[in-house]
Amino acid sequence: MSAPIIQGPIIQGWCPGALRPMLSGDGYVVRVRPRAGRLTPEQAKGIAALARLHGNGLIDLSARANVQLRGVTEASHPALIDGLRALGLIDASAEAEARRNIVVAPFWTVADPTQALAADLTEALAAADAPQLPGKFGFVLDTAATPCLRDVSADIWIETGPEGLLLATQAPRAKPVTAGNAVAEAMALAHWFIAKGGVTGGRGRMAALLQRHDLPAGFTAHRLAAAAPAHPGAHPAGQLVGFAFGQMTAETLAALAELGPLRVTPWRMLLIEGANAAPDLPDLITRPDDPMLRVLACTGAPGCLQAHAATRDLARALAPHLTQTLHVSGCAKGCAHPGAAPLTLTATPDGFSLIRDGSASGAPAREGVSAKALIQNPALLTEFP
Ligand code: SF4
Repeated sequence: MSAPIIQGPIIQGWCPGALRPMLSGDGYVVRVRPRAGRLTPEQAKGIAALARLHGNGLIDLSARANVQLRGVTEASHPALIDGLRALGLIDASAEAEARRNIVVAPFWTVADPTQALAADLTEALAAADAPQLPGKFGFVLDTAATPCLRDVSADIWIETGPEGLLLATQAPRAKPVTAGNAVAEAMALAHWFIAKGGVTGGRGRMAALLQRHDLPAGFTAHRLAAAAPAHPGAHPAGQLVGFAFGQMTAETLAALAELGPLRVTPWRMLLIEGANAAPDLPDLITRPDDPMLRVLACTGAPGCLQAHAATRDLARALAPHLTQTLHVSGCAKGCAHPGAAPLTLTATPDGFSLIRDGSASGAPAREGVSAKALIQNPALLTEFP
């Protein structure tokens, strides 16, 4: 039985939004939820300009396909919101913003129902009778040719099945639906989640409820096998480009906006709609064999108030030496990668703990290692006493 290695990271139980930003070590984090997972060139250019004007010019992509502006102050937040509202990126209230928690698969085409479903789901979640769901409860629209978002942290999926659309959860079987009733069925499932006691103290996730309750009738259909994780490069819908640790400068976002609409992905990459060549811009990850794709790292110190150490310089230094994925976490919360990774380094007050095949809060195979020792001897990652 593995015990948590560190007590104490603060679990907020809610995600920052634009109207309800979260304080971090470098100011407020303002999270923007692009509608239907897409930014028009005007919206992307606008976000870049606002990030320079009202933040510190750094922009993150989140694991739920959101765009985060960093370094916002109490004084600059109102003007930032006005600017985002003018771009059509602000909801009617913080509650409406929190409920519009929808991740959209980026490889949709105009021939599939994805964009229409996104509009319908957005409207349903904004309605007066929308289910009052916990802050982290999320929806996925995975309705392009092949499902590719099975690994996203979510609660209800509408996805492509062998013979049409399916309504799904983490359970292996799903319920056949149509483009006409999929959103209504998703809302009914969300109401069922609440009625069965899925929400406790304002929190709750579908996976936890399914430990205690079977799904309602109708969840009998087989699901398609999900596609392998997407890599940077050419795709039929456009070019997928990545960024070290999912972070870019406002200048990079503005330059990408010149190339076309941008689809935001939960892989912390952007798909440049319709582009047929990798853009020649600094700081982009355009090749699937780029070593930086083997490392994940949260903001760490000094940007996060909970961090016990800096994370990204260490991850960058170790990347060329890796043959498997390494997650470097500033504390046991594991924001950059809540699940297990082959190798995880978790910062503690006494150095880094190394966890194999576990999450940032897993039981360590090695403790008290310094960043300097790891950089001088990367073999410490795989050799044990
Ligand atoms: S995992 Fe990283 S970003 Fe998340 S709270 Fe800990 S130090 Fe901060």
